[in-house]
Amino acid sequence: MSDDILIIGAGMGGLAAALSLHDAGFSVRLFESVPELRPLGVGINLLPHAVRELEELGLRTAVETVGVSCAELAYFTKRGERIWGEPRGLSAGYRWPQISIHRGVLQQVLFAAARERLGDSRINLGHQLARFETHAGGGVTAFFEDRARGTALSAFEGRLLVAADGIHSAVRKSFHPGEGPPRWNGAIMWRGVVEAPELLDGRTMVMAGHTRQKFVCYPISNQASAGHQLINFVAELRGDVTELTEREDWNRPGQLEDFLPAFESWQFGWLDVPELIRSAERTWLYPMVDRDPLPRWSHGPVTLLGDAAHPMYPIGSNGASQAILDARVLTGCLRYHRGDLERGLVRYEEIRREPTAAIVLANRGQGPELAMQIVEDRAPNGFAKLSDVISDDELQAIADKYKRIAGFSIAELNSRASLIEPTE
Ligand SMILES: Cc1cc2nc3c(=O)[nH]c(=O)nc-3n(C[C@H](O)[C@H](O)[C@H](O)COP(=O)(O)OP(=O)(O)OC[C@H]3O[C@@H](n4cnc5c(N)ncnc54)[C@H](O)[C@@H]3O)c2cc1C
Repeated sequence: MSDDILIIGAGMGGLAAALSLHDAGFSVRLFESVPELRPLGVGINLLPHAVRELEELGLRTAVETVGVSCAELAYFTKRGERIWGEPRGLSAGYRWPQISIHRGVLQQVLFAAARERLGDSRINLGHQLARFETHAGGGVTAFFEDRARGTALSAFEGRLLVAADGIHSAVRKSFHPGEGPPRWNGAIMWRGVVEAPELLDGRTMVMAGHTRQKFVCYPISNQASAGHQLINFVAELRGDVTELTEREDWNRPGQLEDFLPAFESWQFGWLDVPELIRSAERTWLYPMVDRDPLPRWSHGPVTLLGDAAHPMYPIGSNGASQAILDARVLTGCLRYHRGDLERGLVRYEEIRREPTAAIVLANRGQGPELAMQIVEDRAPNGFAKLSDVISDDELQAIADKYKRIAGFSIAELNSRASLIEPTE
């Protein structure tokens, strides 16, 4: 039996796991279904706790150079009135920044590091996991196919299989064949990236509106013409229908006429929302989907990681960050349980399953954006003084609650030991 740990999927979770396990001395093989990793997606955020892990992997500078260090998250009404702002990353007192970055660019940074450290012979692109078999005496065999041609490829044996194969995980499906499609809350997000003049201080994430209509934008790169940045935006509309009629796809193109009219009046003085949307060459649409938390991730030598384990709404900046934390905790548990790797998988799940389930559920309850809805409910036609509508204490409590759930309290993160040094 080979000693390899087989990692399925070269998204943020799979790449972070491959880099981290390789660094810890494990023999790793990475498999990805697409034949070429193209820089797909738009903006995402790495929270300080994920940046800390990337720093430990020697990748902080590479990521900081191509992203933007976010200094503030600010909430506004649908008229552009400020509700609340909270410092983020270094500005909040964390020892690590929050980095806003293009998903495809981040993936390329991790992929380049994986190629350099693992070597190309350990990375198998164009390999879609078709099925796997576990062995009574330990270990697993994974069977692959070429997705485009539908032809079978060689099988690989390993000690463990880590499924980081995203929200439509084939491995998750094999454990839960009746689970069906992801759950949709009725909201659609139209996403785009534009080159635009710096907004506010050039380091602020802006969220405006309320549950049924929201606009989010933030810079993801300073690599633009003078005084400009690449700005990522998400225009979101929520309806009452919650049954998906087709499988969601991050690469589905959007049409301006489907959402721009709803935002035509959103001219704040300091931000012209319709103008920003109109300047996008292309947009993509994606429904707000997740899945119910699972009672179990690890089955013998096989476990789930990242979106395969806990797909969550892409709010609160947690999708990629939690996948990176999974990868690091997994590494710590396997290091500690080197003599019994399956026990290491169980321990990994014990540490990660409940906290990530709590984030999935908190995001369904609007996460940190609850304040915007409260203000909309109490003062849909505007207000003279914000304090007549919501108190500072109430705002602070909402922000603190989400931070506790998402595991990013400042003092705790700054003082805790590395995730790859578990105490048990
Ligand atoms: C193309 C794409 C674009 C995205 N764009 C955005 C975005 O703009 N904003 C946002 O918030 N989130 C986006 N996401 C989701 C985001 O990357 C994840 O929520 C988060 O980073 C967690 O990463 P993950 O590695 O668990 O999953 P993912 O990033 O989804 O990665 C899973 C990987 O597994 C591969 N894979 C799937 N099935 C198999 C199989 N059977 N065999 C081998 N490989 C397989 C996929 O091709 C993919 O590369 C996108 C995901 C994808 C795949």
